[in-house]
Amino acid sequence: MNLIEAVRTIPDYPKPGIQFRDITTLLGNAQAFRRSVDELVQPWAGAKIDKVAGIEARGFILGGAVAHQLSAGFVPIRKKGKLPHETVSIAYSLEYGLDEMEMHRDAVHAGEKVILVDDLIATGGTAEGAVKLLQDIGADVVAACFIIDLPDLGGAKKVEALGVPVRTLIEFEGE
Ligand code: AMP
Repeated sequence: MNLIEAVRTIPDYPKPGIQFRDITTLLGNAQAFRRSVDELVQPWAGAKIDKVAGIEARGFILGGAVAHQLSAGFVPIRKKGKLPHETVSIAYSLEYGLDEMEMHRDAVHAGEKVILVDDLIATGGTAEGAVKLLQDIGADVVAACFIIDLPDLGGAKKVEALGVPVRTLIEFEGE
């Protein structure tokens, strides 16, 4: 079983020129889903990780599974206006637009070790915003994990420039 083959590609979605890497087919494949989660957490097996932060919405599915596997708490990073308690927020750009993300101010305490999870890193704008949110409230972001890297867009380098190692499992050329 091959993780690359478990991902479905939809051309020109949501905009012309974007190759949308659809992970619903991977999530629906029991072997591929388990293997993805196992491989994502492998460097931290047995390590003390306090929280896993997942980026809405696909990062919730993977992040929840990763948090369970690491016996860590889970923290949702959500689109603006969704969280009910006091939030911190940051504007960010992604491969196909601009947006704002938020997390609860009390979701992570200063010094806690946090792993960030999303399905895919493209330009890195989303992950960079999430890392800054976490670092601003004092989190020790020990890694950012993604199933898919689009290396031509340079996102991993942007996150590594914030002092956060990036782990990805498979890559696709182009946008
Ligand atoms: P970026 O901020 O450019 O790194 O974009 C990453 C975010 O947008 C992630 O939450 C991805 O789920 C989504 N995304 C960006 N590009 C793609 C793509 N080609 N296929 C699927 N999802 C994408």
